[in-house]
Amino acid sequence: MILTYKVRHGRDFSSELRMARQVADHAVRHRTFSSKDVKHIGLKSMIANQILRKYGRNKTIKKARNVNLIVPSQGIRADHEKKTITVPCLKIVLSYQFPEFEKVNQIEVDDEYAYVSVSVPEKPLVEPTRYIGVDLNATGHAAVVGDPEAGKVWKLGKRCQHVHQKYKNIRRRLQKLGKYGMVKKIKDRESRIIRDLNHKMSRKIVEIAKENGCGIKMEDLKGIRKNKKHAKSFRYSLNSWSFYQLRTFIEYKAKLHGVLVAYVEPAYTSKTCSRCGHVGDRNGKAFKCPYCGYVENADVNASFNIALRQIGVSQSDVERDMSEGSTGAPQEATARTIRTLEPHRLFAKANSSSRGSTSAIRSPTFS
Ligand SMILES: [Zn+2]
Repeated sequence: MILTYKVRHGRDFSSELRMARQVADHAVRHRTFSSKDVKHIGLKSMIANQILRKYGRNKTIKKARNVNLIVPSQGIRADHEKKTITVPCLKIVLSYQFPEFEKVNQIEVDDEYAYVSVSVPEKPLVEPTRYIGVDLNATGHAAVVGDPEAGKVWKLGKRCQHVHQKYKNIRRRLQKLGKYGMVKKIKDRESRIIRDLNHKMSRKIVEIAKENGCGIKMEDLKGIRKNKKHAKSFRYSLNSWSFYQLRTFIEYKAKLHGVLVAYVEPAYTSKTCSRCGHVGDRNGKAFKCPYCGYVENADVNASFNIALRQIGVSQSDVERDMSEGSTGAPQEATARTIRTLEPHRLFAKANSSSRGSTSAIRSPTFS
């Protein structure tokens, strides 16, 4: 797996970045790969070559924006003992604190950070004997984990709802006062706290699965988010970025530890009785089955249903996804590239197709 860590470099590369921009402009305008053509700009040829390759080859790029310095692996040296990564052509020495890796693939540098892309070995996937179900919620505990066979339940992320509510109130107050600059700051602070909580939860969930020899089942919310009727529903719209982030964290940490993640059809997971399969009565956080008399916390019941449900999405979901150009199946692909957000800490950001998404993650540190 490729993970990208974000490390603050504390240097001024403004003139190099300006040159990089010029090289990229040249590449976009002339579709050239030849470093001779951009030699006059004065950027180190190793870096210029990478930029030419990126911007010259991609015909969809019409204009070069936010051009980073790109250093290929041959221009990078890693000292695993001293835990430093050296980039001689930019005279950068980064000390890293992220877990061990096989090799550095590439480093991109912007005005503030170095994005260090490393290859990390994945554990071979263990065939699970059973599954734990993870139910995500906007109210109460953010994640309820159920192991129906062992009859065990873990309730995680009690703070999430409070954090969201607290910062929402602060933002609203600031907006009324017209302090828009502060709104952004507060939003960032909330994201950092939620990201940290998501890291803790995802780490715990993968640990539970690993210790119990289980795979992890979650609801496939992909179709639901596309479905307008459901998108408006409270359960899936609220905090959807933090859900998405948590799911991404779980996926990539599971992958690192050889834990299988599978998705199930989300319909009726909260209304079905996990004991007898009938549709029961859900009232807030209380679930009651009129057929067999089963009474349980609604989220716990939902997590059991998720754990017991057949893997896969219904035909209609698949058809809908296919008509929209995706098959809905390759969930595992989403956690492939991760980028860190904080210097010298193991924050990472999922390099998803939507740029600037808030799905930020920290690499797992299992003790
Ligand atoms: Zn029942």
